[in-house]
Amino acid sequence: MKLARFLKNGLIKYGIVEGEDIIEIEGNIFGSFKKTSIISKLKDVKLLAPCEPSKVVAIGLNYKAHAAEFSKPLPEEPMLFLKPSTAVIGHGDEIIYPHHMSHRVDYEGELAVVIRKKAHMVKKEDAKDYILGYTCINDVTARDLQGKDIQYTRAKGFDTFAPIGPWVETDLNPENVRIETYLNGEKRQDTFTSDMIFDVYHLLSFVSCVMTLCPGDVIATGTPSGVGKMKPGDIVEVRIEGIGRLINRVSSLKEV
Ligand code: MG
Repeated sequence: MKLARFLKNGLIKYGIVEGEDIIEIEGNIFGSFKKTSIISKLKDVKLLAPCEPSKVVAIGLNYKAHAAEFSKPLPEEPMLFLKPSTAVIGHGDEIIYPHHMSHRVDYEGELAVVIRKKAHMVKKEDAKDYILGYTCINDVTARDLQGKDIQYTRAKGFDTFAPIGPWVETDLNPENVRIETYLNGEKRQDTFTSDMIFDVYHLLSFVSCVMTLCPGDVIATGTPSGVGKMKPGDIVEVRIEGIGRLINRVSSLKEV
């Protein structure tokens, strides 16, 4: 089932995507809900980020080939950082290039885990029960600032640096799905999630032993090899087998 959050006639709604249609639901995606008889065409609504995370917990260096790409040893435990909720945008929204501070902004296509219920000190074997589903995330990174700063907060935290979507797929087995990133239609990343160093359940368990995860929170599970830079005007697409495509355009910083 594909759960989407969308805007229709100025109102925020939730629905289930089936083919070209979106069927509005009644209730709470983290609890119980049911379909209504209100159906729209997907093309007639504006998709929003499928959830409103209180935090996006991201994992650094979680693919073997990506660690090799940066000549880093494999980590012994997951390396965590946070992206602020204000960085979150949805499918079709623009990534704003922060020219005022950075001159090297990269895409990082990643599998995102969406939390279903409050998770604190969860055992790996119980982790599945805390997951609503999966979506695509682009962990947009100001690579020059990541190198310059000791902390990742600035490099990873600009507004619009966390595109998420297009929806949450609830029926995915995350153990071996293909994840690809395209820049202007050219393939740049292409890996299977089986190349992860720490799998999804390990990550959820680990993070929950540091901080409580809330419904709608997102874990970005790390990017495979093939990261690279983007420039204004570029179209970036993260495509995950069984989920769909998250497409965003890079735009220059809006004048204020
Ligand atoms: Mg990343």
